[in-house]
Amino acid sequence: MTTPNRQPSHLFYQTRRRRPMLDQARGVYMWDVDGKRYLDGSSGAMVCNIGHSNERVLEAMRRQMVKSTFGYRLHFETEPAERLAAKTASLCPGGLNKVFFVSGGSEAVESAIKLARQWAIAVGEPQRYKVISRYPSYHGSSLGALALTGYAPMTAPFDPMMRAMPKIPAPRAYLDGLDPTKEGTGHHYANMLEERILQEGPETVLGFIVEPVGGASTGALVPPTGYMARIREICDRHGILLIHDEVMTGGGRTGRFWGAEHWGVAPDILVISKGFAAGYAPLGAMVAHDRVVEPVLDKGGFIHGYTYAGNPLACAAGLAVVEEIETQGLMANAERMGNELKRRLKGLMDRYDFIGDVRGSGLLLAFELVADRRTMAPLPKGLNAFDRLVELAYERGLIIYSRRTRGGLEGDHFLVCPPMIVEESHLDEIMAALTAALDEVA
Ligand code: PLP
Repeated sequence: MTTPNRQPSHLFYQTRRRRPMLDQARGVYMWDVDGKRYLDGSSGAMVCNIGHSNERVLEAMRRQMVKSTFGYRLHFETEPAERLAAKTASLCPGGLNKVFFVSGGSEAVESAIKLARQWAIAVGEPQRYKVISRYPSYHGSSLGALALTGYAPMTAPFDPMMRAMPKIPAPRAYLDGLDPTKEGTGHHYANMLEERILQEGPETVLGFIVEPVGGASTGALVPPTGYMARIREICDRHGILLIHDEVMTGGGRTGRFWGAEHWGVAPDILVISKGFAAGYAPLGAMVAHDRVVEPVLDKGGFIHGYTYAGNPLACAAGLAVVEEIETQGLMANAERMGNELKRRLKGLMDRYDFIGDVRGSGLLLAFELVADRRTMAPLPKGLNAFDRLVELAYERGLIIYSRRTRGGLEGDHFLVCPPMIVEESHLDEIMAALTAALDEVA
């Protein structure tokens, strides 16, 4: 891997590891300052859904930039925010129509749980405060969102500082030897929610949050047949708010605008971020039904807010992104190319017995490495083949997204999620680089 610009840096993220310096990006490609080209096989972190440097979006941002780049929400309303809210509401399932803008996924999740809590207080049920989530799951890294996140390596240091919320197992039928196409399997996992609600005391439970198709935590886990509908029924039975975390799935990546559209289920609140402005600006939203928002507004207002909420430049970018997705037929392309890429990734299982599973929906795809496909035993801890695969792909100009978890506990998977503008020739490139990298670790 090229490691230019090795001056000491004042910047830091998770580790001391340095990455190449990005120069420019266009379409599905990115170039570092040495001129090396990379195919963005993970759309960043499943963000850049419409590819880089899209002219429609750049033009919309240029136009907005010269008008205004900031209007504080308590002083002004802005046209881009108004228009994007209306557009988002028109796309939402189940009549969800009240849009609260934020700058990212964690903020959107925080907003959802704070709205849910204030709704409970407003409707005279202040004893409801528990938001059940799944293990594994990822809902963000601010402390409120982290309390819902089911991923011990990220949550453990902060346990004393937050009230961890109850978790139920994610429906990983492939690990439990169950058939995900059978309704009984979906019901088996969904019923775990009801058991947990009863155990916690239904009157104390506020909500349940779920990624319709799992993201980085579960590696593109598609719920078994019947799961999403049964979850909805259970929430209704106990007066619990259902929150769909569409931070990664919202915006068309699975082939539908919302991940949950595949099952025709509507939540009470949903959150979206990554693909919303697709990397052109920091943007997210929490969208809720009137019946949740109105009681809160009636009782004096929503006690919550962020300085950058409804930023007009971010909203102008978001609007143009949604327009681009619709006018270019990118969801249909995500479905078509996703099916083809999944077929090719599945083909790798004939060649490499350490690939235990290939799964996903549209262009939210993952493959999982295992020590033994028969037992699905995880890779031994500390095995560096996992990290090497990412580096070997990188050297070959392919970016994929990895999550090493089951060598710890939860799963060792790679997400292959190129932008929704991807064509067959790009799939050829992805598969060539991936196969070469896999050959080297095999
Ligand atoms: N929820 C889900 C499903 C996510 O995948 C993520 C990020 O990966 C988040 C929430 C948090 O979003 P952000 O990193 O923008 O705060």
